[in-house]
Amino acid sequence: MSISTCDLVLRNGTVIDPGLSPSPQAIDIGIEKGRISALAQTGNLPLLGSRVIDAAGLYVFPGLIDPHVHITNRVAGNMRGGFGLTSLAAIHGGTTTFFDFTTPHQPNELLSAIDRQLQNADGAVFSDFCLHAVLPAMELDDLWQIEQAIKRGFPSFKAFMLPSRGRSKVDDRLLFAALEACRLYGGLMGVHAENGRLVSHFSRKLLKEGKNGLRYFAASRPNICEAEAIQRALYVARTAGAPIYVYHVTSAEGAQAVRHARQQGLPVYGETCPHYLLFTDGVYSEERGFLFNRVPPIRSQRDQDALWEALADGTFSCVGTDDVATTLTHKRQPPPGPDFTDFPGGMAQVETRLALLHSEGVAKGRISLNRLVYLLTAGPARIFGLYPRKGTIAVGSDADLVLFDPNQEKTITSGELHDGTDYTVYEGWKVKGWPVMSLLRGQVIIDRGKLVNNAGQGQCCPRKIDPEIFKGPAA
Ligand SMILES: [Zn+2]
Repeated sequence: MSISTCDLVLRNGTVIDPGLSPSPQAIDIGIEKGRISALAQTGNLPLLGSRVIDAAGLYVFPGLIDPHVHITNRVAGNMRGGFGLTSLAAIHGGTTTFFDFTTPHQPNELLSAIDRQLQNADGAVFSDFCLHAVLPAMELDDLWQIEQAIKRGFPSFKAFMLPSRGRSKVDDRLLFAALEACRLYGGLMGVHAENGRLVSHFSRKLLKEGKNGLRYFAASRPNICEAEAIQRALYVARTAGAPIYVYHVTSAEGAQAVRHARQQGLPVYGETCPHYLLFTDGVYSEERGFLFNRVPPIRSQRDQDALWEALADGTFSCVGTDDVATTLTHKRQPPPGPDFTDFPGGMAQVETRLALLHSEGVAKGRISLNRLVYLLTAGPARIFGLYPRKGTIAVGSDADLVLFDPNQEKTITSGELHDGTDYTVYEGWKVKGWPVMSLLRGQVIIDRGKLVNNAGQGQCCPRKIDPEIFKGPAA
């Protein structure tokens, strides 16, 4: 280590990284050629002509990772985002690496869907990114594509256990075989866990009773739909001897299933999302209820409390946003009709994740600051094969850093966000604490809330799942 050649020194900050002991800690960070090259107690790094950033009064976190973002390239017009705007919103919010999903257009199309999505990321991308490969309906003979994807550095997958929006479902037979392939070749399968037969049963029953309004949306997919599918997926994974990741857990029962599996030492990893933590199903009775359409639905206060508990007690490993950037016009149509079965889903929230979870979670005593930072950094980095290159502040790691002003007060408003959409479900929310600077591999990209580096040099990160993730709950 040659301290004298640091390109950049970050001084006087309070570093929060649960990988450090203790955390918080007053540390100066030396950066050289995009990586962290030196760590020393405040004032102990020789500056020797390095550029210096004074982080006094600010928290310094490892660059945040969002394991669940949907880039909306596929639909033109009212869909917004794309890699450019979504990554710009991400890095404004302190997220220096996000995971997007491939969109296979036909059965058996796993590898070419990865290539297509990489082509979509051709222009300026402001944060680093990774791709989860969505598992298409496949012949078992074609599962060699899983091995190939893993070899190419795309070792994480998502299987939809029910059909949705033209996407055919992954049945239990395929899920089992894909999990076996993941065990053999070092992949990590994730699931969108809902029981589609139960969803259509409850939906049809409500529609038959004339209960077609959006206020019945949550009732059309009650907790059992998710809880049964999670339990089944965990059992299938256990039998296949493979680890499993559960995307967007929404229910108390789902959280309990993940907790129980981990208590038994099984390699099970769970995620929830900000909307399940910050709203309840009462929103579907509001006039703006259509903004909250997302599957699985937002649930009761009891479920919300259980999700916070699962974040705090180590049951969940990540908070992903499930970000989808759409405009109000798109959310309103089609159809204009009040039938809960077909509203466009999703909301943009990659930029507000940190500030909201800090204000609503840490400031309200629901989780500790260290735990929040873990959930947004090391948790996803360890699970998805980015650690320790990303997800921690350590010598040799990428110099992805976020400076957070814990005292900056802000009222969230759509016009100040960068996702290119024209609304936010958090309009008018007051937060205390906001990310003010983001560095990507040693480059300052956002400074005091402004884009200062237009290069858009975000890269797709090749990954390999850590064998520890296969053994037990290692994150
Ligand atoms: Zn999903």
